[in-house]
Amino acid sequence: MVRIEGLRKSFGNLEVLRDINLAVMPGEVVTIIGASGSGKSTLLRCINLLETPDAGHVWFHGADLAAEHVDVNRLREKIGMVFQGFNLFNNMNVLDNCTLAPVTLKKMKKPEAEQVAMRHLEAVGLANFAKADVNNLSGGQKQRVAIARALCMQPDLMLFDEPTSALDPEIVGEVLEVMRGLARDGMTMVVVTHEMQFAKTVSDRVVFMDKGIIAEEGSPAEIFGSPKHPRTREFLARYL
Ligand code: ATP
Ligand code: MG
Repeated sequence: MVRIEGLRKSFGNLEVLRDINLAVMPGEVVTIIGASGSGKSTLLRCINLLETPDAGHVWFHGADLAAEHVDVNRLREKIGMVFQGFNLFNNMNVLDNCTLAPVTLKKMKKPEAEQVAMRHLEAVGLANFAKADVNNLSGGQKQRVAIARALCMQPDLMLFDEPTSALDPEIVGEVLEVMRGLARDGMTMVVVTHEMQFAKTVSDRVVFMDKGIIAEEGSPAEIFGSPKHPRTREFLARYL
């Protein structure tokens, strides 16, 4: 579904991504782990063109995203993204947060968009909060709304950038549970996370990034059970 080849990205003199090669198959859950500053967010942002790569290619459904005729908006409709900071529209209720993009970008009729939204809110356990003001929700509820909102666009791929890092520890589980369900339903997901237990139990593949490169990738059993790269071992030692 996604293929990345020779991806490079610098900010000024700082080389943040140095020759990244990665493929994500349909239905696969890939988690990306690595130290702060290793380039995890930048890599995710290159997949949906929130950042423009300096070199290399990113293919999505076989289309080269660097090609000039690529319709970035159409592309983003197919790629849902959930950030650490929720990024909800605070002046709207939960339901309107979920229907805004389908109505404005996909030209979906409001009643249909609401029907779709209610289905996704149901799935994340928030159907009863449809009319609630998002400002009154807990962090975990906000993040579940953010996930439901992304799903309302019917994406083929979901990108998560540390979706639980801003949450109180006791709330993290409810968000991970929603993500676990999504994975079970076959959603293709790329998840940047520090939740090693999630990486271990949910992902098909774990990618360890170190200073702008993929130092090691493999199954959770390989990465957590017998990491080969000294940097992977060093990193994991801090978590396990
Ligand atoms: P974290 O775990 O802290 O989120 P990360 O692995 O996601 O880290 P990135 O956010 O991809 O790392 O950042 C990699 C490096 O690039 C960092 O040194 C960061 O300061 C730098 N960087 C990221 N975005 C920009 C930008 N827009 N302009 C300048 N530097 C940037
Ligand atoms: Mg980051």
